[in-house]
Amino acid sequence: MSQRLANQPLQSAQQLWAQLVIQAEEPLLLLLDYDGTLVPIQDKPDLARPSAPLYESLITLSKQQNLIIAIVSGRDIRELKSFLAIEGIYYVGGHGAEMEDLHGNRYNFVNQRIEWIESLAEIACQCIGSHEGFLLERKKTSFAFHYRLACPSIASVVLEQYRKKIQRILEIEKLEMVEGKKVIEVRPAYINKGTAVLQLMDRYSQHRPLYMGDDKTDEDAFKAIAGYGFTSSTVLISENPKPSYAFYRMRNSQEVVQFLQILSMRCSDGSIQSAVPP
Ligand SMILES: [Mg+2]
Repeated sequence: MSQRLANQPLQSAQQLWAQLVIQAEEPLLLLLDYDGTLVPIQDKPDLARPSAPLYESLITLSKQQNLIIAIVSGRDIRELKSFLAIEGIYYVGGHGAEMEDLHGNRYNFVNQRIEWIESLAEIACQCIGSHEGFLLERKKTSFAFHYRLACPSIASVVLEQYRKKIQRILEIEKLEMVEGKKVIEVRPAYINKGTAVLQLMDRYSQHRPLYMGDDKTDEDAFKAIAGYGFTSSTVLISENPKPSYAFYRMRNSQEVVQFLQILSMRCSDGSIQSAVPP
């Protein structure tokens, strides 16, 4: 399977709804990335708070019988829940390193010691020196090096050094480096959003998945879902077409929220079922 440039652009949230209606006999497993998908990317990750329409839509959808929601993020669950404390949904944190189920039971899939996070942070600090605009984020099971606020020419020198210096740790600790949007993240190589999504799809095998995500780490999920046979169940959030395993494309998080609003209205008036064509 290869990435392609197409990602059929959806003209509107209404159009995605229309596509789904055809399949509405089946219950839905709605898998949603957080940053860049449900909320716009912020210069500082702490500022990515949910909007009221997003929050209200998710609350309504969380109460639907025929719909399961999972937020699938690179953030730790604790942090994710400080933004979105909604009951009755799944939270997947650390790109799949941890999961919380509908009843609040928490599962961890990384048992290895993670002293390497401090080693990476030390190397990052050495590379940064006295330059400004860099942000280090020590997560439970991964380490993120943000450079959104740094001068681009300085960032490229700093990051080149960092990538070189961490190679040995990546090999010894079996880690993977993922280049995201103005962030380089290191995480255990065997953990990714694809493995997390497959677990949920196994658990809800009668449900049709729909995954929405905006970044490189979401490609693992797009690929896993397509590999499972759901080739049109993936939506890349991106203003412009780019190589992706996703089938559809929406432009930004506002369109995603519009879609969730339409879905929640249709669910609450019962038309998600009555709209099934004869
Ligand atoms: Mg994202």
